[in-house]
Amino acid sequence: MSDSVGAERVARDFRRLYGAGPEGVWAAPGRVNLIGEYTDFNDGFVMPLALPHTAVAAVSRRTDSVLRVHSADVSQGVVHLGADALVPRSDTGWAAYPAGVVWALREAGHTITGADIHLASTVPTGAGLSSSAALEVVTALALNDLYGLGLSGAELAVIAQRAENDFVGVPCGIMDQMASACCTEGHALYLDTRDLTQRQVPFDLAARGLRLLVVDTRVKHALGDGAYAERRAGCEAGARALGVRALRDIAYEELPAALGRLSAEGENVRRYVRHVVSDDHRVEQVIGLLDAGDVRAVGPVLTEGHASLRDDLRVSCPELDLVVTAATAAGALGARMTGGGFGGSAIVLVEESDAEAVSKSVTEAFAAAGHTAPRIFPAIPARGAHRLI
Ligand code: ADP
Ligand code: MG
Repeated sequence: MSDSVGAERVARDFRRLYGAGPEGVWAAPGRVNLIGEYTDFNDGFVMPLALPHTAVAAVSRRTDSVLRVHSADVSQGVVHLGADALVPRSDTGWAAYPAGVVWALREAGHTITGADIHLASTVPTGAGLSSSAALEVVTALALNDLYGLGLSGAELAVIAQRAENDFVGVPCGIMDQMASACCTEGHALYLDTRDLTQRQVPFDLAARGLRLLVVDTRVKHALGDGAYAERRAGCEAGARALGVRALRDIAYEELPAALGRLSAEGENVRRYVRHVVSDDHRVEQVIGLLDAGDVRAVGPVLTEGHASLRDDLRVSCPELDLVVTAATAAGALGARMTGGGFGGSAIVLVEESDAEAVSKSVTEAFAAAGHTAPRIFPAIPARGAHRLI
């Protein structure tokens, strides 16, 4: 699997499709999240890093309000839409992602008079690696540059999230779009999702003889289904019952008392609150360890985070659990599911010298359990969205 599609090839395909070369070519990456899961819609903390896998888009402006979009990865041909007539949740299939960005920019008062877009992506879809955010952010950055909008990475991420929430109709938080827009090479992005303040945290594992593996279980997740919305509603109910704006406002030290005050809310709400408040705490722990240079100690925190997602939030699945048990049994420092769960990918922190043996153990465990072979590759922290041509 190559990390990214060449800009020249995407430009050439654009010319073949639309009869003239593009005004530019941009890239935006997928991501994995190191720690802080299901915290981003609770105003909490997250720590994603960008992958080398990117969505690449060749784009030109138009002046006639026509929006044409094409993906090299979908056998659907060019989708024709009217920029003036975009209707949220109108079932435009994959084209809803780029079209939603045009809609969200226009909703925010920006003048977008149409575009021709051709894109190709190496971010695996539905693997919990945010292929959707890569698509949105690459579109947003291209239009920002071409139309001279002057928006920051964080502002583009907010536009992209609005596209996914309100146009596509997926109630995701802000993490994926912020990661794709704002990550930098060699760093993890420590992000406060309440005010979008961020810090780039050096995350050079190779220099310490470590590696972060991504294990794509090949189980397709479907965040659109009710489970994500149900967790979200449960967290909101918990915050309401505790009299706070969001669960981020419950300090880890207050957690036992807070759980005691939730007796009327039911077991699920208590479990969700315990996950979110403890995972926010784990982000703080990981930041402390990275700042202290104690990267190996991050491993057990990841594994604890997985147990919380599996047992309290219950968003894991047998394949994700198997990655964690097989990898840690084979000597990994720690492992957890990453992203929304119910399939998708896990991350595994290993000594570089153990990476091959751990990968082999995970693959063998999948075979023994009768699962499809996982796809395993290293997560090397890459740069966020940028212009290529
Ligand atoms: P994830 O973001 O974890 O990969 P999502 O379900 O949020 O999963 O987004 C996947 C959807 O994004 C796909 O079903 C498709 O509609 C769209 N998508 C992603 N990559 C592409 C692509 N290269 N071409 C067309 N559509 C894509
Ligand atoms: Mg997505």
